[in-house]
Amino acid sequence: MIKAKGYAAPSAKAPLGPFSFERRDAKEHDVVIDIKYCGICHSDIHMARDEWGGLSRFPMVPGHEIAGVVRSVGSNVTKYKVGDHVGVGCFVDSCRQCVNCKKKLDQYCLEGNTLTYSALERDGKSVTQGGYSNVIVVNEDYVLGIPKSLPLDKAAPLLCAGITLYSPLMHWKAGPGQKVAIMGLGGLGHMGVKIAVALGADVTVLSHSDKKREDAKKMGAHHFVSTHDPKVFQEHANSFDLIVNTVSAELNLNDYFGLLKTDGTLVSVGAPEKPYTVSPFPLLVQRRSYAGSAIGSIKETQEMLDFCAKYNVTPAIEVIAPEQINAAYERVLKSDVRYRFVVDMAKL
Ligand code: NAP
Ligand code: ZN
Ligand code: ZN
Repeated sequence: MIKAKGYAAPSAKAPLGPFSFERRDAKEHDVVIDIKYCGICHSDIHMARDEWGGLSRFPMVPGHEIAGVVRSVGSNVTKYKVGDHVGVGCFVDSCRQCVNCKKKLDQYCLEGNTLTYSALERDGKSVTQGGYSNVIVVNEDYVLGIPKSLPLDKAAPLLCAGITLYSPLMHWKAGPGQKVAIMGLGGLGHMGVKIAVALGADVTVLSHSDKKREDAKKMGAHHFVSTHDPKVFQEHANSFDLIVNTVSAELNLNDYFGLLKTDGTLVSVGAPEKPYTVSPFPLLVQRRSYAGSAIGSIKETQEMLDFCAKYNVTPAIEVIAPEQINAAYERVLKSDVRYRFVVDMAKL
């Protein structure tokens, strides 16, 4: 076994603290990765506080925005070699046999993919532990190559925040001539703005206060709307082809459906603890659609990393030490993050 150090939540009610544990020795197709940086996703907070209906297992080492360097490889690994820059995102395995896995839509594995932390491995026994740690062992098919031009600290948030916005923007064909709105300028939302701008769409930020107006413009957003003032829902009615909702808290989605053009789509990627109430009326009157989207496939995540390297699309980050994780969680909950915390694992 490989000795690992990490930062773990002992229970849903307790703060995270230092934690020692073990990783499996590399099997023939495994890659052993020295983790350099791990982003803090709002999902880590939902999971560490057990807000998603019993998905959480404790003690839990969260973290699924992992960037590091290959330490060693199993005997039959062909995709990576020692020293490569690599990443790990939200899942580390899937069944490989269902129609979705065969179509390279492994994020939608019909048997359920193996989440990077707090999940049972496919042996049904071992529990996965995530990236707030110094080392991880992952099958090569679920490891991503990070182009050398992307610094590892800025690459980390791409592994969840980046792909979670890239995937719906590509699926609903954001591009020139399309009006796209991003709800919530947090970790996910700010990547959505940068990617949609790089794709050539006309991009609006819908934010719940006026505080991030200047930042949104600097990120390339063409318009900024503070939804604090209810008048904006009339002023911008029937405006957008696509709205991507990244908000982590409850809100009245029915107000936002009216902002879509005829045949427009609002896609939720944000996953608040409590369900929304959806009225059919604002949808049916203009044949609007409401949809959801989860992360992206391994294939698409690699495409996204290559796209971000090519167009120099990177997150705005604040690098912190592991001891600051609990304070960072509180700041994320107050929407006081500009725009992603990244934990420096060398400081473990
Ligand atoms: P985040 O950095 O905390 O951003 C969430 C944003 O939501 C905030 O910055 C804020 O933006 C807005 N917001 C927060 N509280 C609000 C409130 N009371 N009313 C209105 N808006 C509010 O979180 P994140 O890491 O981007 O994650 C966002 C959500 O996506 C989380 O629920 C997370 O679990 C989920 N997620 C889903 C997937 C997936 O595959 N579907 C993947 C990763 C994460 P403004 O200040 O601009 O309003
Ligand atoms: Zn995430
Ligand atoms: Zn599958």
